[in-house]
Amino acid sequence: MKKIIAMLMALMLIVSGIAVFASCDKEEEKPVIKMATNAYFKPYEYYDGETIVGIDAEIAAAIADKLGMKLEIVDMEFDSIITAVNEGSVDFGMAGMTVTEKRLQEVDFSISYANGVQAIIVKEGSPITCADDLYAEGAAYKVGVQLGTTGDIYATDDFGSANVTTYSNGNEAVLALLGGSVDCVIIDNEPAKALVAANAGLKILETSYANEDYAICIKKGNAELLEKINQAIMELTDDGTIQGIIAKYIK
Ligand code: GLN
Repeated sequence: MKKIIAMLMALMLIVSGIAVFASCDKEEEKPVIKMATNAYFKPYEYYDGETIVGIDAEIAAAIADKLGMKLEIVDMEFDSIITAVNEGSVDFGMAGMTVTEKRLQEVDFSISYANGVQAIIVKEGSPITCADDLYAEGAAYKVGVQLGTTGDIYATDDFGSANVTTYSNGNEAVLALLGGSVDCVIIDNEPAKALVAANAGLKILETSYANEDYAICIKKGNAELLEKINQAIMELTDDGTIQGIIAKYIK
């Protein structure tokens, strides 16, 4: 009998030990929410070692926290994000993504959490000195853009696809500019600043190409998730969290 009691007590100790261990690991128990991004878009999303960090990564983590979920970030080509959202392999896309009419036909967008600007990068001494130069009579400048971005969409509309070369990320576009295969790169202003800081001999023109709103994209008709994300963005805006995160990355 004594032996059985001792065994039972030992068993209870083990079980309570497991319970304590499990409660330390709450983060693992939370349901996962998956975000698609393209982590070559500093300071919104980029690699710090193996980890994807940046404005979007931090805002998404704060939203996930409000939803009681654990954020998992999936890195992919920018051009694949909307497809991944619609196929349901991820729950939402967040990638400094601009709200456009065409995208609104494919996905739903949250309320906007940040403003974007399409900037023009040229080599120092370039004959292109302002946005208007691109439209000048007889001008046929070669423009580099990131595939599937608003820079790509608008430049193709404005200058024709023969004058626009697409690259899979901003870095490749800037290398093409340095190598002379394109005359300018049209890309979002913050990544433009990071690209110019990392590569000598380049500058951003003072006039911008377009102004836009960044938002989170969600599968069309997923009203429940859209509502939750909008609510979280509103709360994180009201309590200054989003502004704080942006200010940490954009001085
Ligand atoms: N804001 C641009 C767009 O939505 C670029 C975004 C990106 O390259 N990550 O097309």
